Amino acid sequence: MSVYWNHRVKTLSPYVPGEQPRDQVFIKLNTNENPYPPSPKVIEAIQKATGDTLRLYPDPACTELRREIARRYGVGPEQVFAGNGSDEVLAFAFAAFFESSREALPILFPDITYSFYPVYARLWDIPFAPVPLALDFSIRIDAYKKPAGGVVIPNPNAPTGRALPRTDLLSLVRWHGQVPGTVVLVDEAYAAFGEDLEMAALVSEYSNLLTVHTLSKAASLAGLRVGFAIGSEELIDGLCRVRDSFNSYTVDRLAQAGAEAALRDAPYYDGVNKKVIATRNRVSAALRDRGYEVIPSQGNFIFIRSPTRKGAQFFTDLRERGILVRHFDKPRIADYLRVSIGTDAQMDRFLAACETEESVGLGLTNS
Ligand SMILES: *Cc1c(COP(=O)(O)O)cnc(C)c1O
Repeated sequence: MSVYWNHRVKTLSPYVPGEQPRDQVFIKLNTNENPYPPSPKVIEAIQKATGDTLRLYPDPACTELRREIARRYGVGPEQVFAGNGSDEVLAFAFAAFFESSREALPILFPDITYSFYPVYARLWDIPFAPVPLALDFSIRIDAYKKPAGGVVIPNPNAPTGRALPRTDLLSLVRWHGQVPGTVVLVDEAYAAFGEDLEMAALVSEYSNLLTVHTLSKAASLAGLRVGFAIGSEELIDGLCRVRDSFNSYTVDRLAQAGAEAALRDAPYYDGVNKKVIATRNRVSAALRDRGYEVIPSQGNFIFIRSPTRKGAQFFTDLRERGILVRHFDKPRIADYLRVSIGTDAQMDRFLAACETEESVGLGLTNS
């Protein structure tokens, strides 16, 4: 606490990102990065963009990048907004579409979800009412069909990995479409790892639907910081108004060049992400065979509970074996760990570490 902080800063509760160790000793399965490298065409495009033109500001409208995104999702470029990671796009969306007033209806999102949502709501003073997940961690879509200041649903959800069928989300978008002004934001950070989840093509039909996307996970570009949103022109204009009241050049020249190349190389990423999905399914089955609870995941991570160990202990045991995962010390999920899907070799090391621990946990060895 400092006397120099204003009231807003004193009352913030900032997001705590997963650890980024400076050395490479860990098998890093804690922040849902893609274990495979970005497309070689991305590296080439970034190298080509490195030169004298760095003197010049980037295109604030990200024209070429938005064109590539529009092509990929079957929408118009005017229905696309690009930003510095989807975290920034989300922060702008909260600022643009949800009311900051004690009298406003609260916005709704799951009680167990991406922990940045309550952080943004507090940053902008937006009232929010978390909606409890069902006991099996599924999202109870009907609980969101009530008057609200807005709705935020990640599909698949994080950290559980569970996904809703598109028809469920569509029924929610339609329900809130009856009340003018209520935006339904679907965070599709992990949709590429799921089965037929993407909704962006529907934004022309539903002016209250905003889908938010990132190149961090499915395009192996967490280091480049590029995210985007797809929605009706009026929603996109709202995001531009917030951005241009804050920082007009949020996506730098190298990031725009790399992101464009990534969007053009869909075949490369389809291959990479098929491997991630196959590994996820293999590891899930192996863990279930050994008595672990594994929540069915459509993301590039799994949410698991050991049959023998508390979450905090399981986390520490893995860390001692050089494997970094994510533990959330929160009600209902304190005994679960979120494990990002690595390469097959990394996941074999992870499974081996689980095995050793099981025998210790069950008292089968004395070491
Ligand atoms: C990782 C993640 C993001 C943030 O992505 P960036 O583009 O890296 O900022 C947003 N939403 C969810 C649900 C995520 O897991």
